[in-house]
Amino acid sequence: MITVVFQFLSTGPELNYTLGRHNGCVSMGRQHHRRSGARANRRAFTATSKGSDRSPDAAQDADLGSIFRLCARSLHASKCLNLRSPFTTHRQRYDPHAPLEPSSSKLLHNWVMPLATGLICRVVVTAALLIVCVVGILLYPEPLHGHHVDQGRLRLYSDRSFDADKGRALLNDVERRLQAAPVELRDPVSVYRIFVTNAEWRRRLVFLWVYLAGGVNYYPIAHSVFLRQGDVNTDRLFQTDGAPVAAPRTLSYFAAHEIGHSLIGKRTGAVANWRLPAWIREGMADYIAFGGDVDIPALTKELLEGHRELDPKRSGFYARYRLAVAYLLTRERWSVDKVFRTQQPSTEVEQRLVGASPQ
Ligand SMILES: [Zn+2]
Repeated sequence: MITVVFQFLSTGPELNYTLGRHNGCVSMGRQHHRRSGARANRRAFTATSKGSDRSPDAAQDADLGSIFRLCARSLHASKCLNLRSPFTTHRQRYDPHAPLEPSSSKLLHNWVMPLATGLICRVVVTAALLIVCVVGILLYPEPLHGHHVDQGRLRLYSDRSFDADKGRALLNDVERRLQAAPVELRDPVSVYRIFVTNAEWRRRLVFLWVYLAGGVNYYPIAHSVFLRQGDVNTDRLFQTDGAPVAAPRTLSYFAAHEIGHSLIGKRTGAVANWRLPAWIREGMADYIAFGGDVDIPALTKELLEGHRELDPKRSGFYARYRLAVAYLLTRERWSVDKVFRTQQPSTEVEQRLVGASPQ
């Protein structure tokens, strides 16, 4: 370490600043002393770095940054400065060509900005760690779901025990629905994992901001879908009040719906999938979940009669969107890609299907 005594004369008492250079960094301490007593300079750095200098002087402290930079500039010091004061410690980048700060901004540059930067850094690091943990759980949720069964390329996991044969039967039903998807969307190769999450604390971990949803798919993070409370043995998913969702929306339907979102995302790309209108994104996933089995005349009649199930906001179901997509695919013979590209609102499609339906 190289220690240099640097003397600064101000309008106040004479101050001694001691610069220490160590490992490419420069540290500075200060110590008040009598004008006539030029002693203890060698202890200045050590004393201040240990926080033993308790002689605060706000005006002098405000000048500290500029003094420090001046000292470091004169020493041709390194790129890293450790500035120590009786109150706090912070670190500054040293730019030998930078002008000295005007006095009006010294407080901001020397104290406010370092503190704010430190706070922002802590928040960013904490958020990054949190994101890493959440993504890790979403990628590898198996430890949270101790019971599982495989059937073909599908995997079924649950945090409650279930009958293995009924689990395989459920997976067969999911596979049947996926195989009936429009040919452009089929993906018979990829492995998909279905997680039925019953315990509330587990649901909060994997459902995140869509805690109340029946299912969730985080495509393209992983080939996994999560379903809320469900009983594999009875092939039923339960609502928030504990009542089972009525047929035909079984647990396998919900699983196929969520996997359908992955099939759509693979066809469109993740960004385009995210930007799809809800009636296309959810309508296509629901069309897949129902295995393409859509009774267009019956649903059109219910739409005209104002049935609750045909109102997604009231029912929480996507029958209305499924009807519009099914009409485009089967009656107007649109391709899947044309459906994804269309700018038409669902109301325009509904006007055509109502006009085409027999009165
Ligand atoms: Zn959906």
